[in-house]
Amino acid sequence: MTTPTPEFHLRTVAETVASRSAAEPEFLQAVNEVLETLHPVLAEHPEFMEAGVLDRLVEPERQLIFRVPWTDDSGQVRVNRGYRVQFNSALGPYKGGLRFHPSVNLSVVKFLGFEQIFKNALTSQRIGGGKGGSDFDPSGKSDAEVMRFCQSFMMELVHHIGEDTDIPAGDIGVGAREIGYLFGQYRRITQRYESGVLTGKGVGWGGAEVRTEATGYGAVFFAEEMLARAGEGIAGRRAIVSGSGNVATYAIEKIQQLGGTPITASDSSGYIVDEAGIDVDLLKQVKEVERARISVYADRRPSARFVSGGSVWEVTGELAFPCATQNELDANHARSLVAGGLRAVAEGANMPTTPEAVEIFQQAGVLFAPGKAANAGGVATSALEMRQNAARSRWDRDTSESRLHDIMRDVHNSTYEASERYGRPGDYVLGANSAAFVTVAQAMLAQGVI
Ligand code: NDP
Repeated sequence: MTTPTPEFHLRTVAETVASRSAAEPEFLQAVNEVLETLHPVLAEHPEFMEAGVLDRLVEPERQLIFRVPWTDDSGQVRVNRGYRVQFNSALGPYKGGLRFHPSVNLSVVKFLGFEQIFKNALTSQRIGGGKGGSDFDPSGKSDAEVMRFCQSFMMELVHHIGEDTDIPAGDIGVGAREIGYLFGQYRRITQRYESGVLTGKGVGWGGAEVRTEATGYGAVFFAEEMLARAGEGIAGRRAIVSGSGNVATYAIEKIQQLGGTPITASDSSGYIVDEAGIDVDLLKQVKEVERARISVYADRRPSARFVSGGSVWEVTGELAFPCATQNELDANHARSLVAGGLRAVAEGANMPTTPEAVEIFQQAGVLFAPGKAANAGGVATSALEMRQNAARSRWDRDTSESRLHDIMRDVHNSTYEASERYGRPGDYVLGANSAAFVTVAQAMLAQGVI
């Protein structure tokens, strides 16, 4: 057998995925973004091509689609679709969140699961990659409806998860409330208090300190490291943040703690600009406690204005933290941000920046941290939660935050070092993809063709 050239191999893999998954645009986008950076790794490691590592990596080990019937408050039967994609377990049990949002389909779950393999590898926590969710929309539903939906979802999911098999967590639309209902049903069906089967639990019953904050804090820690390498910092800088959920809220909180000024937040109804700096307590009150629309923040804060519809990326600043959803920041936004003096982007969300926008940032010399590195703090802290569950122990808040900080520093350093090793110092996209790929590929190689 002759070894193909990296170009030929990458093109063949891309063509196979494109023909097999033609109707899955988000998944294709995520795969192509990785393939475009792997040439130098394959040139160094022809054995990965000989063992068909990439051919196997782009195909999930297992994908499940199931019916989720539930009854709404008026007694009407509703049916949603549930998903769990168990993508790759070479490094450990599948690990990745559940997303409840009307836009969820197989393409979205597969893109998220594929990204998760790389992200989890970067954390060095020995966890494989998976993702799941449903097209169920929790907004506007009563607590009782959300509970009945979660219970029905778990009736099927229970057959496929376990603390050594697959450990789901939260994502868009799945927070502590949903994880509580899911865990309660798992415990009831199995008659086992298997704490490590889900992460993102309440701190009083097996959850880890700082898990709620971890993704947002971690993205800011990553930005801090990236800026520090360039002799710069966060203090004194205006930051644009999108979203107002779990990731955005705690990114805003940490930016403020480090002396920066976050001036925006958004949801699917529009965005707010608060030149005085976001009042985090008010934001939490509106979004976490009242589950209200973001406009309510501006109603209560004289220094803020609400812009209905539109994109928060119309506003400019020196730092950008996209923390809402995929493909929210496009080429036009990127051009306007660069013209407005943007210095660094750290993705709190998964794939929020389109490929064209990433290119514009990189060509303009803007520091750019891809989500699979910058938002790895959430899953890393989930892995710490699993370790505490296994040891039946609980770390205090300071210990938990300092471990998160250490992990994000390590993720930054290994990503940067890989960007140097493979010839493009400071290209964090190439660095994250290649560092993670080498880790997963070596494990797959060692474990044979499975
Ligand atoms: P939340 O559900 O807590 O918040 C999501 C936020 O994004 C909300 O403000 C929501 O507004 C907004 N949003 C979602 N979809 C859209 C849309 N299509 N258009 C406009 N706004 C939208 O989710 P998280 O904060 O947990 O997740 C945000 C991102 O971070 C996702 O990409 C997720 O995959 C990623 N992530 C999350 C991690 C975690 O630990 N939670 C870990 C790593 C990554 P609205 O309420 O109006 O829908």
